[in-house]
Amino acid sequence: MSNVPEFDPEILARLEAAHPQRFDEDGKPIRCLLMYSGGLDSTLAGILMKMQGVDVVAINMFTGFCLTDHKRKMGHTRPDGSAYQNEAIVGAAGLRIPVEVVDVREGYLKVLTEPKHGWGSAMNPCIDCRIHMFSKAERELMSEYDAHFLVTGEVLGQRPMTQQRRQLGLIEREAGLEGLIVRPLCQTNLWETIPEKKGWIDTAQMLSITGRGRKPQIQLAKELGVLDFPQPAGGCCFLTDGNYGKRLRDTIDHMGAAEVDFEDVLVLKLGRHFRLPGGNKLIVGRNHDENEMMLGYWKLGSFHRLADHMGPLGLYIGDETADDHALALSITARYGDAPAGEAARLELLEPHDEVIKGYAQVVPLPRGDERGWLIQ
Ligand code: SF4
Repeated sequence: MSNVPEFDPEILARLEAAHPQRFDEDGKPIRCLLMYSGGLDSTLAGILMKMQGVDVVAINMFTGFCLTDHKRKMGHTRPDGSAYQNEAIVGAAGLRIPVEVVDVREGYLKVLTEPKHGWGSAMNPCIDCRIHMFSKAERELMSEYDAHFLVTGEVLGQRPMTQQRRQLGLIEREAGLEGLIVRPLCQTNLWETIPEKKGWIDTAQMLSITGRGRKPQIQLAKELGVLDFPQPAGGCCFLTDGNYGKRLRDTIDHMGAAEVDFEDVLVLKLGRHFRLPGGNKLIVGRNHDENEMMLGYWKLGSFHRLADHMGPLGLYIGDETADDHALALSITARYGDAPAGEAARLELLEPHDEVIKGYAQVVPLPRGDERGWLIQ
């Protein structure tokens, strides 16, 4: 299965040609903003709108927590050796619609640490996240693109937290978009929207898909010329990952939500995390790429690594005079090639330029002894 949508250009061209542009009562072309992930559901929603003669502009929201993005930055490749691509950019190109990647990180920290509507099972603040994204679209993008309404690939009942009838209504109300969000895959099961009332779009051409099954979408994909598509979006966001959630919970508990900074939550994507007995923290890189990326978080604490053996980078966040510091060094050393039971030398690094500011000697912690402090 591909990590990007792929289309049959002939089918797409035929669909497009059969559906001329629609105009509003003032003679302006009807235009929608499609909240576009590049996944199958939002791809189908975009095609269904194009088939109605509506101009579609794809909007891909960037939160900093997309797993594919992270893999791309880490230089990872897919099992077949190909590169990870931005599904939304590739998908929009295939659909021949414009796309904008919109950075929504401003204000996102509060969504993450103090969500008004709470977290899901993995500390995922999905309701507040959707409200945050849709509000951004409402405040800035609708007028910028002269759009009449917003479109999503949501399916009623597909996701327990955000795609139930009550939550769909709540999200659009709180985003200031009541009646202005069209969900072509399930619209006939929902309330009538303003675009339908005004005759900008035709309800009869929309669908009534419900639930978590994928069969109707896969069938529709075949009919509409979508040859391949990425896996469903459930595993695409760090914030739905249970391990990430435990680290976020730990960070909020120790720092207090108001004190947490964006770097504190971004670094949770990297390495093994330990909460030490004195309350300080250690992060140990799991591979070369993580070690490299961790160096970017020099403002958070101090780095160390084995001086005479191969081993990971450790990032200690806290008081360097505390007993936790020596413990942190011995945990980091335990993950390297230093012989067990013998003193090993560690380099203590200046925060931002990898200059060695000193050395310390520790005996690597016996393997397994670190587990009690591991946040997992
Ligand atoms: S999975 Fe939830 S938290 Fe992640 S981007 Fe989607 S709505 Fe936001």
